[in-house]
Amino acid sequence: MSTLLELRDVHARYGSLRALHGIDLQVAEGETVALLGANGAGKTTTLRCVSGLVTTTGEIAYDGRRLSGHTPEEVARLGVAHVPQGRGTFTGLNVEDNLRVGAITRSGRGVGAEIARWYETFPRLGERRRQLAGSLSGGEQQMLAIARALMMRPKLLLLDEPSLGLAPLVVADLFAALVEIRRSTGTAVLVVEQNARLALGFADRAYVVEAGHIVLSGEADRLAGEDRIREAYLGG
Ligand code: ATP
Repeated sequence: MSTLLELRDVHARYGSLRALHGIDLQVAEGETVALLGANGAGKTTTLRCVSGLVTTTGEIAYDGRRLSGHTPEEVARLGVAHVPQGRGTFTGLNVEDNLRVGAITRSGRGVGAEIARWYETFPRLGERRRQLAGSLSGGEQQMLAIARALMMRPKLLLLDEPSLGLAPLVVADLFAALVEIRRSTGTAVLVVEQNARLALGFADRAYVVEAGHIVLSGEADRLAGEDRIREAYLGG
């Protein structure tokens, strides 16, 4: 598998606060990679660096080009879709219009068929196509945010805490859909997830972030068996 995304010695700061101290990570084409770590470790910031939402030093390479210095709009046009924490739907638009906005970077052809396709994956969205996004449940909003991101036909999907605040059954449905999406589209995924068990079950590989550093990385199966991970993230 060839490398799709590579961060080399990436640093980021918010004013005087240094949030990332030299992050190195890679995501191969079609691969699913999880970022684990405590609150405030720098996981969200890492995703924001890739999307061009935070100014960085170091190298970010994506699909054979340098990403550093690109605006968020340019990064999105290059095929990186970011679903931020807290969903990020247009609450005043209905479900279908949210999905149409997702396709705005593309020509209009095939948009209707693609919307129908995501309604198959997420039937609850199809049933609520005329409902305002702001009136959807948390799980439905997360599904909509993901479906909207997929309307861009991304090569790389950045997911920030998709399970946050959702009931266990909703989380199970959502991740089952994500597994199907990954299989059918081949989209690479970089996911930040507090639920380490869920993340390690879903991802091919994972990185553990602590205080702005990567402290551990490897195959998800192997990490799930490591004492350090079990004690810190899997409840012993
Ligand atoms: P969480 O799981 O709580 O979202 P995280 O690992 O995603 O944590 P980040 O959100 O990346 O962590 O935050 C990394 C550090 O940067 C933290 O110390 C945080 O307080 C700080 N930080 C994040 N966003 C900002 C901001 N907009 N302004 C100032 N400091 C920020």
